[in-house]
Amino acid sequence: MAGLLCALSLEKRGVKSTVFDTGMHGLGGRMGTRVIDPQQLIFDHAAQFFTVSDSRFSKLVDYWLEKGLVREWQGLVGQLELGGRFVPLPSSPPRFIGVNGMRPLADSLLSEWLYLSKLDAWCRLLWSM
Ligand SMILES: Cc1cc2nc3c(=O)[nH]c(=O)nc-3n(C[C@H](O)[C@H](O)[C@H](O)COP(=O)(O)OP(=O)(O)OC[C@H]3O[C@@H](n4cnc5c(N)ncnc54)[C@H](O)[C@@H]3O)c2cc1C
Repeated sequence: MAGLLCALSLEKRGVKSTVFDTGMHGLGGRMGTRVIDPQQLIFDHAAQFFTVSDSRFSKLVDYWLEKGLVREWQGLVGQLELGGRFVPLPSSPPRFIGVNGMRPLADSLLSEWLYLSKLDAWCRLLWSM
């Protein structure tokens, strides 16, 4: 997300850039999502939710809300301590989750504002363009 948002910020200032990412399973980095068929189980295996404290990010989150990509999470979030005691986290600030996982948020940045060059990964560390 940091790379995509950096490219977006450069583009707004008239600088074209290309983002290369070694992610083997798609965009998103630690905002990765895995989908298990056929039950369509969706797992966010890094960021399960996020909060908003920056006004620039808030504008982007409003846009994602409008597009139905994120929604506020009303459920309980907490910490399971040794011995099994569940300690709930305070309910504010509001928490947001990806409606179909977090990865579509990265995809939305790419599809609407940026450009993708065709790359093939030879192995985990080598690329051919
Ligand atoms: C288990 C877990 C739970 C988390 N839970 C939360 C949460 O609940 N809420 C929250 O807000 N945050 C959470 N986080 C943190 C959040 O996921 C990260 O802070 C955030 O996604 C980091 O984004 P980033 O763009 O800085 O880095 P990354 O998402 O790590 O992106 C870095 C990208 O660089 C690519 N890359 C690496 N090396 C190269 C290279 N040599 N060339 C090209 N590309 C390269 C990688 O493929 C990756 O896509 C969690 C993280 C983890 C691991």
